[in-house]
Amino acid sequence: MKNNIKAFLDLVKERNGDEPEFLQAVEEVAETVIPYIVKHDIYYGKNILLRMVEPERVITFRVCWVDDSGEIQVNRGYRIQMNSAIGPYKGGLRFHPTVNMSILKFLAFEQVFKNSLTTLPMGGGKGGSDFDPKGKSDNEIMRFCHAFMGELFRHIGPNTDVPAGDIGVGSREIGFLFGMYKKLRNEFTGVLTGKGMSWGGSLIRPEATGYGNVYFAEKMLETKGDNFKGKNVVISGSGNVAQYAAEKVLQLGGRVLTLSDSSGYIYDEAGIDTEKLAFVMELKNVKRGRISEYLESYPNATFVKGKTPWNVKCDVALPCATQNELDEADAKALVDNGCICVSEGANMPSTKAAITVFHNAKILFAPGKASNAGGVATSGLEMTQNSLRFKWTREEVNTKLKDIMSDIHKSCLEFGEDEDGYVDYVRGANIAGFVKVADAMLAQGVV
Ligand code: NDP
Repeated sequence: MKNNIKAFLDLVKERNGDEPEFLQAVEEVAETVIPYIVKHDIYYGKNILLRMVEPERVITFRVCWVDDSGEIQVNRGYRIQMNSAIGPYKGGLRFHPTVNMSILKFLAFEQVFKNSLTTLPMGGGKGGSDFDPKGKSDNEIMRFCHAFMGELFRHIGPNTDVPAGDIGVGSREIGFLFGMYKKLRNEFTGVLTGKGMSWGGSLIRPEATGYGNVYFAEKMLETKGDNFKGKNVVISGSGNVAQYAAEKVLQLGGRVLTLSDSSGYIYDEAGIDTEKLAFVMELKNVKRGRISEYLESYPNATFVKGKTPWNVKCDVALPCATQNELDEADAKALVDNGCICVSEGANMPSTKAAITVFHNAKILFAPGKASNAGGVATSGLEMTQNSLRFKWTREEVNTKLKDIMSDIHKSCLEFGEDEDGYVDYVRGANIAGFVKVADAMLAQGVV
């Protein structure tokens, strides 16, 4: 078995040697899926996984725009159309200076499995730009988004590829992107998700990734006869996913101790309650400030510069910022401090070594492709509502989101339960996600 996995990974490395994040994501999938393929004749010998690691299409393009001082700026735009076996490509756009081919390919690859797990008909894709929205005026953001869509519009469409938000792309950016798509195509369709409520957006979409992550963690805790009541929860990030994860933890009776951004984390021993969270939402979403400014209103909290919050003692950890933000030493600190559950809101926030620590300690651990799938699932529900030209109520969407997270949890149990009863959610999510896509690819032949 080891030889099969090594031979496969060597080949992928040979072709993608300078893409570390992509190789990390492929390795995690290969180690759990290849043993399954070997045991199942219908998949064996068909190079299914080799086909899945090769994007169906990669688009890169120039994005030129003029900043407020009249300077011409040049950025790079990308769209990775990874796999369309079970539906149109679907996945977010990330605007961040670190964006490159490796990061977008890892995200697109993860997205294929995640979208499959939702049970909705969505293929996998991802895109974005090395554009840094930090410190830019609203007008600069608008000009950049319009320029970006000035090329992307050729490659997407409601039945082809439906982008959404990700890091650096929230409702403001989706609005500007949608406006330009509509102008260029002269049609009003559900080509993007995460739209505003008055122009085709779905209720609960902004909350969906964070809420979904907490619903998933709740399901994991339930397997131990436990729940969020009274639990101390450490959260990283303070963006879309972190904010709504915090909101749902509070609703379920937990205590939120930390939030962070790329400059450091805040620790509030008294707990970040609903009022304090509203302050954070205003600070981050409207004023576009830094998390350290929390202390100006709540001076009893502490700000730890340049660090992640994993040394803070907690029962549950929700990494909701970015990839590889939680390493082996962080994982050991969490386990040593008694953490019983880690549920990823971000994509691939835990390193491979960190996941091994969680598995060895036999604590509950959910990989992002399962636990953060609520965002794209609700995007799928937004697409359905757009097609029907209909709007479900908040309660209807929330119930569907909860049901989907519960079904994903069940799929993980189906493929991830060990003989001793421990659930390897990584294996469960990878195999469950793989099976549906692989079956569709086999049915469609070699294309
Ligand atoms: P936002 O842009 O709203 O927030 C990102 C947060 O993460 C910010 O607090 C940001 O801090 C922090 N962050 C970003 N990069 C780093 C870094 N290198 N080190 C430390 N902190 C960092 O993004 P989202 O909340 O939407 O996304 C967060 C994660 O969740 C990402 O991994 C994304 O792929 C994933 N995700 C998002 C979904 C969604 O629906 N939005 C769906 C599924 C997954 P700062 O402001 O300083 O940059």
